[in-house]
Amino acid sequence: MCGIIGVVGRQDAIPLIMDGLRRLEYRGYDSAGVATLVDGGIVRRRAEGKLRNLDRKLALEPLEGTIGIGHTRWATHGGPTENNAHPHATDKVAVVHNGIIENYQELKAELAAKQRRFESQTDTEVGAHLVTDLLEQGLSPAEAAAAALKRIEGAFALLMLFSGPEPVLIAARQGPPLAIGYGDGEMFVASDAIALASLTNRVAYLHDGDWAEVTRDRATIHRAGPAASSSGRFCSAQPPAS
Ligand code: GLU
Repeated sequence: MCGIIGVVGRQDAIPLIMDGLRRLEYRGYDSAGVATLVDGGIVRRRAEGKLRNLDRKLALEPLEGTIGIGHTRWATHGGPTENNAHPHATDKVAVVHNGIIENYQELKAELAAKQRRFESQTDTEVGAHLVTDLLEQGLSPAEAAAAALKRIEGAFALLMLFSGPEPVLIAARQGPPLAIGYGDGEMFVASDAIALASLTNRVAYLHDGDWAEVTRDRATIHRAGPAASSSGRFCSAQPPAS
């Protein structure tokens, strides 16, 4: 279950993301996926099973881009299919998520009533649609993320990639760990420092309730709204026994 990585860089993001996902394999997972920005638009590749399946897809249909996110999934809501694999995306935002959005049914019903169409059985996809709904109301990515985080209940680590010309990732932690990695003119986010080991040794973990705007040059860390309840049903942050 459960690995997240994000790169806001200056070089091809996919090799860095795939290396990070390999370093997170120890947590276990059933499917995987990546998304990058190509000409400001979100492009995804996802696959069931092991990372070698995603590698094959990327060999057949390579992804460019210097900003991107990746995920290894341990399914909790919806089977381990390609369609349920993360990132979940609209044309405006792509989301990867560890943990559980406890109130996803309520949010899904609300968003479906606004004619938003869901493609997966996951709890995660409501995150992408909720943020998109807020963006369409005129909020900026940071405002939309902050407003969405106030609505989402449960234990989660979330990473959002926004379409558009300005490369920005938004990372949020309510339970499962999330680390920010500081490079030289490049920034990273991951479930743990192990995933970032080949990229940087300058790493700071978000505290519970923190969310961060991450650009190439900096991470701006904010405190979230009222703390969501934490079920504890999320993946382990423990490194493997040696
Ligand atoms: N609840 C989410 C899902 O089933 C995330 C699972 C995970 O932590 O990998 O897709």
